[in-house]
Amino acid sequence: MKMEKGLGSFTFEESWEEKKERAVKIVKKLMEMYPRKSMSEILQGDPFFTLIRCIISQRNKDETTDKASEALFRKYPTIHDLANARVEDVQKLLKENGVGLWKNKGKWIVECSRIILEKYGGKVPDTLEGLVKLPGIGRKCANIVLAYGFGYQAIPVDTHVNRISKRLGLAPPKVSPEKVEEYLMKLIPKELWIYVNHAMVDHGKAICRPISPKCNECPLKTLCPYAKDLISDEEIRKT
Ligand code: SF4
Repeated sequence: MKMEKGLGSFTFEESWEEKKERAVKIVKKLMEMYPRKSMSEILQGDPFFTLIRCIISQRNKDETTDKASEALFRKYPTIHDLANARVEDVQKLLKENGVGLWKNKGKWIVECSRIILEKYGGKVPDTLEGLVKLPGIGRKCANIVLAYGFGYQAIPVDTHVNRISKRLGLAPPKVSPEKVEEYLMKLIPKELWIYVNHAMVDHGKAICRPISPKCNECPLKTLCPYAKDLISDEEIRKT
């Protein structure tokens, strides 16, 4: 990948190699700050549960997602149960548990279950290409399933990863989440990919918040162009 022009190598004057070194320092520091000791602390559940949870989670708070996922799997414990469920019943359950976009999500959940059962013999596809063909599954959800369902090296780019990567100058400020993913995959060694999303999500909730990030108390401040006023939120394109 060529160096970006006109953005001060997107906010720090540094070569691509220097940016890669800084990216590794950032990820290792984030891993120290928000440790996951074992793979079981990284995985959310089996791939099917992770996929359905991801559909439910879109534009919802974690607490709502947890509550609704638990209620859904209590009523429909297996993929067969969900594939044979009435769409209206699943929609009703989601609505009663406070899930936004419950109409679409209810439809997607039943359709996904039927497709996985009929086309893939009940096994969730384990490729990005296969996953994004399922209804309601975009690139972010597909990467979440790969990382947190299968334990594969992948970098889901959600709103936290998008914002923090840009503040840290690991991606140019105006690019799409897909491009952010591409930059991160080129800057960060593959064996660290699986830690990036969860650590940045934790960091985004605790310190690097969307509004008024606590830069003064952030252990990354010496590595961060935002903390040095080299970039502002106004320059950053949101997801
Ligand atoms: S220094 Fe500020 S902007 Fe940079 S990562 Fe930390 S909290 Fe976020």
